[in-house]
Amino acid sequence: MPFFPKPAAVAKPAPAGVVVFSVNREILIDQSGRPPTVATCQALGLPLKDVLLAAEIGGMPCYSVQQLAPETTLPPPLQTTSLRAFLNRQSPAWRQAITRAVELSSWRMEHRFCGRCGTAMQLNPDDGALRCTRCGFESFPILSPAIIVRITRGDHEILLGRNRAFSTPFFSNFAGFVESGETFEDAIRRELHEEIGVEVTDIRYFGSQNWPFPHTLLAAFTAEYAGGELHPDGEEIAEATWFDVRSPLPPIPLPGSISRAMIDDFLAMQRAT
Ligand SMILES: [Zn+2]
Repeated sequence: MPFFPKPAAVAKPAPAGVVVFSVNREILIDQSGRPPTVATCQALGLPLKDVLLAAEIGGMPCYSVQQLAPETTLPPPLQTTSLRAFLNRQSPAWRQAITRAVELSSWRMEHRFCGRCGTAMQLNPDDGALRCTRCGFESFPILSPAIIVRITRGDHEILLGRNRAFSTPFFSNFAGFVESGETFEDAIRRELHEEIGVEVTDIRYFGSQNWPFPHTLLAAFTAEYAGGELHPDGEEIAEATWFDVRSPLPPIPLPGSISRAMIDDFLAMQRAT
């Protein structure tokens, strides 16, 4: 597990430390396919601004820095790559560290001014919050809870949906943000009712995953179908279909995502029986 210190400004980052530059939904990498080190950035003249220690993995610092403006000209061999695809290739520890670094840089960029009085915010080293220099209002790094649920019917069927927002068409479990005042179970029932018109029972916790799109803490659950006819809402869910997992499945999420882990878990149950 990575060590996550409180957000604190770093005046002299370690040369061997890894720097996570994000720009929109992309991340900066070097020719090795990894985020560049502090030494590489300095050698290439890429300025490091708002440096925070986001995480440490086995003594290796992972730094969060100010996001790059989309029009920034990158010095070769640095280039950007899809953050989503990059995270799916990482070990769980590096995925968490890089997710945290991306989330910290978005948090700083989006909370430069106090939401209460509009004055500039400053990082408070005592508690790792951004603090208003006038009224004292504090903002901590943002996390948005969301649920994702695997719905099965009997021993072999799984219900998967195709989201209209996916750039490449694939089928996945059903997910949504938790509304203010809701429990996870409430959010599951509401999302499934709104998006596909089904009810579930036997809701069980599966695991959780941080996901920096934009700062989501995904709580994953499994559930058994209990009733209702499939009515995809057509807005978020374009299509919802029962698949018998004894036959080949359509394209599903990439390994590394908790959605894929839940589907793989159901497939493993088939092999075990
Ligand atoms: Zn204020």
